[in-house]
Amino acid sequence: MSQKIYINGEYFDRENAKVSVFDHGLLYGDGVFEGMRIYGGKVFRLREHLKRLWDSAQAIALPIPISLDQMSIDVNSTVAANDLENGYIRLVVTRGVGPLGLDPFKCSNPQVIIIADTIKLYPEEYYRDGLQLVTASTIRNHPAALSPRIKSLNYLNNIMAKIEGLKAGCIEALMLNHKGEVAECTGDNIFLVRDGVLITPPMDAGILEGITRDVVLELAEQEKIKVREIPITRYDVYVADECFLTGSAAEVIPAVKIDDRTIGNGKPGPVTKKLTEAFRKLIRQ
Ligand code: PMP
Repeated sequence: MSQKIYINGEYFDRENAKVSVFDHGLLYGDGVFEGMRIYGGKVFRLREHLKRLWDSAQAIALPIPISLDQMSIDVNSTVAANDLENGYIRLVVTRGVGPLGLDPFKCSNPQVIIIADTIKLYPEEYYRDGLQLVTASTIRNHPAALSPRIKSLNYLNNIMAKIEGLKAGCIEALMLNHKGEVAECTGDNIFLVRDGVLITPPMDAGILEGITRDVVLELAEQEKIKVREIPITRYDVYVADECFLTGSAAEVIPAVKIDDRTIGNGKPGPVTKKLTEAFRKLIRQ
């Protein structure tokens, strides 16, 4: 069966799923997106993702041409059309076609694209043994320039850091904010554990409000793990007992080394394992 891609209410075979070269999503990165997981045929935290998509669109003054309820129906129909039990959804809303030139108000036809696919982000051994990080010299976007809370199609900030990470042999890179504090990684939020306390940067560190971050915070509460959302520095990462990253694509993944320093004993720690287990249990439900 060929993959069915949703564009503005119609399904196209993968080869025929196309947008115009005049779409401002392509020309200027003008648009917003979401990445979500399908577990057991169901979209995980669909409402939360749609809420964030709507907030991102609102922030860039992009009117989404269908209602949130309709989008929810269309996402589920796309999953069904592709007969996926487990997978990944990329939901994209572009500004649409317009003349060359920035003016977004000359684009009158936003494009809604839903791609349901399979995913394998990181190799299995990283989940077992942990991955290595490097701190990027590229800082996270200043919130007053382009808020990291907006999940926009302009990911160059993250890509610049990702290039630094990959060049250093690391699949993920840590990004600091304009104050030099730890913000997040290029496509994941970050958590530390110190003396049994779970620590993660607060929203005003200039980060994406990760859906998986929220899930892990809820699970920590259920597991009676003490949580602190406080500003942290690279020092805190260096001296942490444990470190892990969260994201819809990555799920929960341990990090055991950063900037050539071993974190804790260099192995995924007990709190990381406990939360990973709780997360896996939740997504199996
Ligand atoms: N930060 C950034 C920059 C991201 O791109 C992502 C992935 N969407 C995350 C954090 C994790 O967010 P979520 O858990 O909602 O996937």
